[in-house]
Amino acid sequence: MASKFQAPRGTSDALPADAHARARVEGAAAAICARAGYEPIATPIFEDTELFERGVGRSTDIVRKEMFTFEDKGGRSVTLRPEGTAPICRAYLEHGMQKLAQPVKLFYAGPFFRHERPQAGRYRQFHQIGVEAIGTDSPLADAEVIGLLSDLLAELGVPGVELRLGSLGSPESRRDYLEELKDHLRANEGELSKEVRERIEINPLRAFDADDEGTRGVMRGAPTIVESLEGEDAEHFGEVRALLDAAGISYEIDPTLVRGLDYYTRTIFSFVCEGLGAQSEVGGGGRYDGLIEQLGGPPTPAIGWAAGIERILLALGEEEAGAGRDAFLAAADDEQRPRALALAGELRNAGLSAEVDLAGRGLKGQLKHADRIGARRVVILDADGGAQLRDMESGEQRPVDPANVLEELGE
Ligand code: AMP
Repeated sequence: MASKFQAPRGTSDALPADAHARARVEGAAAAICARAGYEPIATPIFEDTELFERGVGRSTDIVRKEMFTFEDKGGRSVTLRPEGTAPICRAYLEHGMQKLAQPVKLFYAGPFFRHERPQAGRYRQFHQIGVEAIGTDSPLADAEVIGLLSDLLAELGVPGVELRLGSLGSPESRRDYLEELKDHLRANEGELSKEVRERIEINPLRAFDADDEGTRGVMRGAPTIVESLEGEDAEHFGEVRALLDAAGISYEIDPTLVRGLDYYTRTIFSFVCEGLGAQSEVGGGGRYDGLIEQLGGPPTPAIGWAAGIERILLALGEEEAGAGRDAFLAAADDEQRPRALALAGELRNAGLSAEVDLAGRGLKGQLKHADRIGARRVVILDADGGAQLRDMESGEQRPVDPANVLEELGE
């Protein structure tokens, strides 16, 4: 009988095929990042609510609408982490990592939580991998982290990936630009959607994301940040572009690129995969040169990205098959079951994958089960104390010395 319980809305179980696939993505990301010197870090699943309010920004959709916030038994407001950067910056400051050689280069993976309307590619619990390079404003860091995500998506074989690149400038130039943008929006107020109109003062950049025709028409004529970059911001962006060109990473400048978090400055980027439909971004990020100061630390420029594991798997459109087993230890009768279990233990200790029957099947049933779980070889422990080795691919079977099974399997 099916249980009346289901996984909460917007969450899902990763059954073995999915869990294998997730582990493969995480493993590939960890390996690529480790080779570039990005060390693993893991922060708590929940944090003080204020960390996200201050870090991600009170005007963002994430903070206004999407956080899983609750009061703990001590009356503190805590929030399930909606993203990884603010917690990592909190950890950087808490553990005095500014005293380490800079930049501090970190890699993370884990679950994140946003109370969004669930749809394909958008969940309330999802999983990200991400990197942060904290303590440098060098364009080399921008190009390096972008290169890491580009390499990962290539190694995994994600098809049809495009990199969109933009720059938000520094807070000062951004402020000037935002005034210019607000002027443009106010001048065309009548054509904007209600939501955009109400948020001209709070978050005018979101107007670039609107899908209604009226707003889109207005935005076609809107000034863009990239065009308005000046001085060091323009120079920084030019260097990032030149480094990406030199690394052979192709990109498209997207002057209207915006991200849903307030902390970004200068470089922002987004890797999209058109095959994904509405939720087309597999990963993205940017510079957040002001965030650590915002959290009470010294001025510390930094850059990072996060990519969604579920989105990557959707883009790959495949499930991982189980890895199969090196061996199955079959018992010819019930008396041989302890021998089978003991031998399985020896093989496992030697690094092989090995299983035994745990369901009381007869010998025929055990062979069928071994086939179903993808065992490459079966060792049949005979009633007379002997053993036989069966190759499941060729069907060949021959007697072996039970004391030599490990050597025989190692061949
Ligand atoms: P963000 O942290 O918003 O910059 O998002 C980084 C990446 O996380 C996106 O490119 C997505 O791949 C993934 N992501 C963000 N929100 C969700 C969500 N609600 N469900 C699934 N994946 C998500």
